[in-house]
Amino acid sequence: MKIITAAAAGICFGVRDALVTLAEVGQPERVAIYGELVHNEVVLHQLQARGFQQLAEAERADLPAASHVVITAHGISQQRRQQLLAAGKTLIDTTCPLVTRVHLAAQRLTQSGAFVVVIGRPDHVEVEGIVGDLMSYAVVPTRDAVGTYPATRIGILCQTTFPTDEAAAIRREIAARNPQAEIRWVDTICQPTKDRQQALAELLNQVEAVVVVGGRHSHNTRRLAETCRRRGLAAFHVQEAEELERNWFQGFGAVGLTAGTSTLPETLAAVRARLETIAVELSG
Ligand code: SF4
Repeated sequence: MKIITAAAAGICFGVRDALVTLAEVGQPERVAIYGELVHNEVVLHQLQARGFQQLAEAERADLPAASHVVITAHGISQQRRQQLLAAGKTLIDTTCPLVTRVHLAAQRLTQSGAFVVVIGRPDHVEVEGIVGDLMSYAVVPTRDAVGTYPATRIGILCQTTFPTDEAAAIRREIAARNPQAEIRWVDTICQPTKDRQQALAELLNQVEAVVVVGGRHSHNTRRLAETCRRRGLAAFHVQEAEELERNWFQGFGAVGLTAGTSTLPETLAAVRARLETIAVELSG
C-alpha cells in the first residue's frame, strides 16, 4: 500500500504562532484560555496538563475569574474585548492576523453602507467574533439558508476555513436571490485553508482512500473528510495514530494523508508512521 501525504497539510501559521505565545507563558495557572485555543483535543490536553484554565466555548458569555485571558486565534469582537478590559483582565492576544483582516473588512463594508452577509457557521467562534460588532447582518452556512435581503448594497465575507467551492455556490445564490443589489465579495478564506483544499484536490486523483487527521470538532478537518466522501472515496477521520485499524486499509493500493490546520506536526508524523507499519503488515 502506497501512502501519499498531501503537499499542504496540518498546522497553519496562525495556530503555530498561538502555541508559541502560550509556550512562553510563565505561570499558566493564572491564565484562562477564552474558549478552545484550537479544536484539537491533543493540544487541549497538553494545555490542561500545563495548568491553563480553559473555558468551554459555551461558557464564553461568563467573565473568566483568572487575571490573564488568552484570546484564541479565532478572535473576538471589539465589544467583548472591551468587556474583558473593563473587568481588569490582562489580555494575551493570539488572534490570527487573517481573522483580524475579516473583522476589518466587515467594518469597512458596513461603513460603506453595505449589508454584510457572512458565509460560515453561525455557531462558530470565529463567526461570532466577526458579527459581534455589527448591527445588522446575515450568516449563511448553506445555499438553502440564503435569503432575500432588503438592501441595495450587499457585502459578502467568508469564515476563513470555509471550502472555496461551497462559498462560490453560496455567493451565486446570494446574487440570484438579490438581483436588486450591488454585490461586493471580499475573499477572506485564508491562504493556508486554500492550500490544504487545493492539495487535497490533487491528492484525490491519486488515491483510493484518505486518512484525515484532526480534532473531532475541527470545522476545517471535518470539511476535508467531507470533500473526500463527496468524491466517493473512503475517509477515515482520526485524532491520533492509535485510532487507526489495519482492517480499514485492506485492499487499497494507495492511501492519502492530510490534516486540519490545528493538527500538530508530531501527530501527523505519528499517523504516517503507523500507516507505514500497516502497509508492511498488509503486504506480508
Ligand atoms: S486557519 Fe487560517 S485564519 Fe485560522 S488560524 Fe490558521 S491561518 Fe489563521
